[in-house]
Amino acid sequence: MSRGNLRIVGLGPGSSAWITPETEAMIAQATDLIGYAPYLDRLPETPGQSRHASDNRVELERASHALSLAEEGRHVVVVSGGDPGVFAMAAAIFEAIEAGKPAWREIDIEVSPGITAMQAAAARCGAPLGHDFCAISLSDNLKPWNLIERRLAAACDGDFVIALYNPASKARPTRIHDAFKTLRARKSQTTPVVFARAVGRTDEHILITTLAEADPGIADMSTLILIGSSETRVIARGDAQPFVYTPRSARRSP
Ligand code: SAH
Repeated sequence: MSRGNLRIVGLGPGSSAWITPETEAMIAQATDLIGYAPYLDRLPETPGQSRHASDNRVELERASHALSLAEEGRHVVVVSGGDPGVFAMAAAIFEAIEAGKPAWREIDIEVSPGITAMQAAAARCGAPLGHDFCAISLSDNLKPWNLIERRLAAACDGDFVIALYNPASKARPTRIHDAFKTLRARKSQTTPVVFARAVGRTDEHILITTLAEADPGIADMSTLILIGSSETRVIARGDAQPFVYTPRSARRSP
């Protein structure tokens, strides 16, 4: 039996042009693809390749399944959206390895970097991540809400540009309003805010507004929100979409 391996890849936020050649090559060599069904659906079927689609919520089970298949000698690729290491499967695999069979530590494993939603959203509106920034997931499935509030407040106090992942879902429609209350209490009302929805997909929509005027209710699970720092600027361009950018140097101390 040939030695199995495990590759952990991300498909980027949407467009297939944002899948790296390395990720493409890893997928082409796989005997087994594992991932959340909508991600697997983005890949063409290849004869002889097995697909194991799963629900988004069973990450650790999926990770253990991937490791077991690799241990049996299969060439396994675990597929995430965006980058596999950003709020995605790579960490779940390492959690499973740490808690699992000693033999799993010997498996040939590689993580291939991908384009994360935050980068794609930033590219669509200019260069808002040009200076210090942070990323916070607003999902409280995997952490308590008070920790999220604390991190939001700290990010405001540190004057970081903030990328908000998982801003809302049907299960927690009000949390995004709580988050904006925290942001509005700590930041200038003129702070640029970008709602980047379905970036790289056919239904992409970019909205550039301010903290005062933003309607957090428009965010859904396909939206990434960027909140500017005190240095983030908007360049108006007549009828065209403005550019949003954060200068390379910061002058003020928050
Ligand atoms: N690993 C992924 C993130 C998974 S968390 C990555 O690196 O991008 C899922 C969240 O990512 C979504 O709720 C949304 O906030 C963001 N996201 C993923 N794809 C997106 C897209 N095409 N446009 C905007 N946001 C996206």
